[in-house]
Amino acid sequence: MLIVIALGGNAIQSSDRRGVEDQWRAVSNAMASVSEVIAEGHSVVLTHGNGPQVGFLLEAFDSLPMTEPRPTLDLAVAMTQGWIGFMMAHALERELTKRGVRKRAVVVPTRVIVNSDDPQGWKPTKPIGRSYTREEAEVLSKRMGWIFKEDPRGGYRRVVPSPMPVKILEVDTISALLQGGFVPIAAGGGGIPLARSNGELRPVEAVVDKDLASSLLAVELRADKFVVLTDVGGVAINYKRLGETWLRRASTKELRKLYEEGQFPPGSMGPKVLSCIKFVEATGKECAIGHLEDAYRVIKGEAGTTIGE
Ligand code: ADP
Ligand code: MG
Repeated sequence: MLIVIALGGNAIQSSDRRGVEDQWRAVSNAMASVSEVIAEGHSVVLTHGNGPQVGFLLEAFDSLPMTEPRPTLDLAVAMTQGWIGFMMAHALERELTKRGVRKRAVVVPTRVIVNSDDPQGWKPTKPIGRSYTREEAEVLSKRMGWIFKEDPRGGYRRVVPSPMPVKILEVDTISALLQGGFVPIAAGGGGIPLARSNGELRPVEAVVDKDLASSLLAVELRADKFVVLTDVGGVAINYKRLGETWLRRASTKELRKLYEEGQFPPGSMGPKVLSCIKFVEATGKECAIGHLEDAYRVIKGEAGTTIGE
């Protein structure tokens, strides 16, 4: 069976566990579960988020003197693919070795073509990085052309578009790696977004949702299962409200209805649910959403929420 497994950026590095040691621990625990699955003979492709990590890098760049040029967003995403990809590859190989499996992981810096025709996707809506004062925001918007929006929690945050992914450029490379017996780690942070302009593919100042990019990759690879690992035990109805109910199983039809009722906010559970619906509808196979710490059981369908037709 070919299983595409997406790891949440927040699950790797939450705001209260920011240290490098904490990241290694979270990644190693997840890779221990993944290695169990590989040891059973399954093929696996890993993807990961990067929200907290890309925010951290942008913050670090901003502490440079104003006279220093800042790396662009596509470069920051590429850096997080190396950063998190390396941690996953290193931890996974160690866990595989413990289980007597001789397989290598390969990090694939991944580019994603985004839909440039959908005006909705080009609205700068997704806040990234930290909050700035009005003065700082004015300087940066003049210098860098960044767009800022007032943050309800105070200050101003940079907002970027989050267009829909339409094609993963490295899909053939990833297939070839699978054929060769490697474990590809790809589409980190949703991939580096590219759009066609004047007949050429160029990086754009946007971010792609990692769940949507991972689902697209899973469909393009014709995976048998798509698994989304995050920092909650699955999909809940009335999340954190009266009558909170965790779903063990759901059909795409049920989920679509709940999605339209606004049960799953954009930017967190919304894209995960949508990604699963897309995968199940395109392939007829199952998807699972659950906690990173239960990775093995979620992959097996024994924990979390399983979504089928
Ligand atoms: P990741 O980094 O894994 O992508 P996100 O923060 O984007 O994580 O999404 C996971 C979060 O979604 C959970 O921490 C939870 O707070 C939130 N969430 C919102 N609505 C729901 C819901 N209906 N059921 C479960 N979790 C939800
Ligand atoms: Mg997310």
